[in-house]
Amino acid sequence: MVALGGNAIKRPEERGTAEEQFRNVRETCKQLLEIIRRGYRVLITHGNGPQAGNLLIQQEEARRIVPPQPLDVVGAMTQGQIGYMLQQTLKNYLRAAGLEVPVITVLTQVLVSREDPAFRDPSKPIGPFYTEEEAERLRREKGYVIKKVEPSGERPYRRVVPSPDPIAIVERDAIRRMVEEGVIVIAAGGGGVPVVKEEDGSLKGVEAVIDKDLAGERLAEVVGADIFLNLTDVEKVKLNYGRPNERPIDRMTVEEAKRYLKEGHFLPGSMAPKVIACIRFLEWGGKRAIITSLEKAIEGLEGKTGTQIIG
Ligand code: ADP
Ligand code: MG
Repeated sequence: MVALGGNAIKRPEERGTAEEQFRNVRETCKQLLEIIRRGYRVLITHGNGPQAGNLLIQQEEARRIVPPQPLDVVGAMTQGQIGYMLQQTLKNYLRAAGLEVPVITVLTQVLVSREDPAFRDPSKPIGPFYTEEEAERLRREKGYVIKKVEPSGERPYRRVVPSPDPIAIVERDAIRRMVEEGVIVIAAGGGGVPVVKEEDGSLKGVEAVIDKDLAGERLAEVVGADIFLNLTDVEKVKLNYGRPNERPIDRMTVEEAKRYLKEGHFLPGSMAPKVIACIRFLEWGGKRAIITSLEKAIEGLEGKTGTQIIG
């Protein structure tokens, strides 16, 4: 199970043109090709923060001409966008390498609970930054929960949405069957579209976002993955992150990971969800979880670098 971080598709300093994103995706697919060449069967997931953010800005700017779509639809749109780029590029690389392996993106829905405490405390900032006036208008017109996320400046406000815990991957049976048949599947992009179950059993999208690290872990369970490879923008997880006594972690057990988590070494919203996802994976029965940078994917897999987490 390979989880790709934001930098696999868009670098922080870039605006996010299609050219830039395809260029990054090519680098990412070179790494994926190397992994596949070594005989691993891979299932891929990815983030969508920057892409969803740009789409929300487009919607906001064009709202008088074209009706904005709700967050579940935006999630589906970015799964298509990023899935397309990865699916096409990876397929091109595989073919050039003489490997005729099918690659497919699955538009994935992820079940969450209406009772999830996250719905009572929206905390994940998304989309554009607003002025106080804009924030007021959106609270009034749309009922958005808007919080001041920057201490000052002209546009310190941002919409915050719930980030509920993923319970199950709706398309799990289809994904499992395809992976068993040797298909390379890209799924649960951006954490998947969050859906709840209605009383009659039907599914309905909700205004929320799911953490892609936690959704990726659920996906790993679906296919019975041995290894959970988290590719981000740092080579190793650090203790005392950002402090003078910071030091990299080469290896940690689940027990150690839990202790460090409790001690606050991993920031919420970035490293903490990755470590939580790795702990869940190992407690479920996974053999090895790795957190490393995209560039070090192979060395990380070989156990030569990255942070290796074991049961
Ligand atoms: P991704 O898009 O890969 O999920 P994130 O930004 O969510 O990337 O998570 C990676 C980031 O986590 C790093 O760039 C770093 O800023 C941050 N981080 C927080 N705590 C730690 C830590 N203890 N060690 C290393 N990085 C950390
Ligand atoms: Mg992240």
